[in-house]
Amino acid sequence: MNRPNIVVLGAGYGGMITTAKLQKMLGSNEANITLVNKHNYHYQTTWLHENAAGTLHHDRTRIKISDVINFNRVNFVQDTVVSLDPSSKKVQLENGELTYDYLVIGLGFEAATFGIEGLKEHAFTISNINAARLIREHIEYNFARYNNEKEERQDLLNIVVGGAGFTGIEFVGEIANKVPELCKEYDIPREKVRIINVEAAPTVLPGFDEELVEYAMNLLEGKGVEFKVGTMIKQVEEHKILVEKDEQQEEIPTNTVVWAAGVRGNSLVEEAGFEVNRGRVPVRDDLRPNGHDDVFIVGDCALIMNPENDRPYPPTAQIAIQEAETTARNVKKVVNGEDNLETFKPDLKGTVASLGEGQAIGVVFGDKKLFGWTASVMKKIIDNRYLLKLGGVGLLLKKGKFNIFTK
Ligand code: FAD
Ligand code: NAD
Repeated sequence: MNRPNIVVLGAGYGGMITTAKLQKMLGSNEANITLVNKHNYHYQTTWLHENAAGTLHHDRTRIKISDVINFNRVNFVQDTVVSLDPSSKKVQLENGELTYDYLVIGLGFEAATFGIEGLKEHAFTISNINAARLIREHIEYNFARYNNEKEERQDLLNIVVGGAGFTGIEFVGEIANKVPELCKEYDIPREKVRIINVEAAPTVLPGFDEELVEYAMNLLEGKGVEFKVGTMIKQVEEHKILVEKDEQQEEIPTNTVVWAAGVRGNSLVEEAGFEVNRGRVPVRDDLRPNGHDDVFIVGDCALIMNPENDRPYPPTAQIAIQEAETTARNVKKVVNGEDNLETFKPDLKGTVASLGEGQAIGVVFGDKKLFGWTASVMKKIIDNRYLLKLGGVGLLLKKGKFNIFTK
């Protein structure tokens, strides 16, 4: 009997957990498993803001795929997916083509740019290891240039972060910790550097607990972050941005715009012809899109509505991991010819956001609020729990965050 080909696209949270589970759950005589990823490493997207600020080296964040996935059991293909064709069950790669019987799409997110002029050309995004490394190098290079310029170039020292959602807030928390070190290194008075966080909504972290938002703002302002709330980024140029508040426009000189104002699913899923909503594919409760019983979608490419508020569940690692666990069990069922697929039920354990080393805010176990150091320890526990789940004690010891006072 021919063994079915299971192809998993993307080695993010969704793709890695799906593949790690499948390699344990399916015997090699039951199915061939192929994992495709751009790089030979998996990275913890949830730490990328630290890599971008330069407060944590990116080698802490990335994990060799071979440390988790058994390449004798899983065919790992390091390549870039170029297109998907669900009708012919083919995946086009930069260097080849794959045919599948069952496909798991875990290609993650990309920045939502909302058509803002100049954003794609001039702004940075915290989206992967290469992008994070570029932000870190760019900021440092601008600081290095500052004392070599004939004229005063404030744009070199103004760091503008677009969006004060969790990504924007976590990044300003880190960069505010890094700036004093950079100032010392490049002989720049700290008061010359501006970190400006621009948020379109009337408050930072819109929708989050007000007391925690106030704590975060006070702490970050104390570290020198300026917030411009109710302010939209309208246009980005090479050395400045244009923002608007109450119909008043303002230009801010800056060489560094970090865009953290929202994400969408990888555009490859839309290009493949799946129905999308903000780039994410609505999936049924067994995580398959309508009309495609051979395709499962996990993580930021998938859209599931929360019946409690009739809004989509936010794209988070927490949900991607849980979706992947259900998907692995469902893929096993379809491979075994069963049709009683499991229903995905998210188990939301809360949200914890870091505000720089030793500081965080969070709501966990329903309504328990955490502030400061306690929240930062909780964040480490969450991150370590993931490593344990993915690669056992070995991976936890190699990559975990154990020091509760430092990284
Ligand atoms: P990703 O983790 O984005 O992985 C996608 C994978 O696909 C990557 O390995 C990528 O290289 C690969 N890939 C992409 N395109 C191609 C291609 N064309 N060909 C081949 N491979 C490709 N969520 C939380 O729950 N908690 C947090 O604390 C948290 N912190 C965050 C901090 C930051 C700075 C950011 C940006 C996000 C954070 N999130 C957090 C959200 C979370 O990171 C995402 O929801 C999660 O990464 C989605 O997982 P995923 O598996 O869908 O995709
Ligand atoms: P987001 O959509 O949550 O926040 C983007 C913010 O940008 C919003 O507050 C929005 O009002 C603002 N914005 C949009 N357009 C703007 C404009 N033109 N000018 C100024 N502001 C503008 O996006 P995110 O923060 O990147 O988060 C993406 C996902 O990742 C979310 O689901 C989030 O929960 C998750 N995440 C979680 C954590 C954590 O749990 N610690 C950390 C980071 C991200």
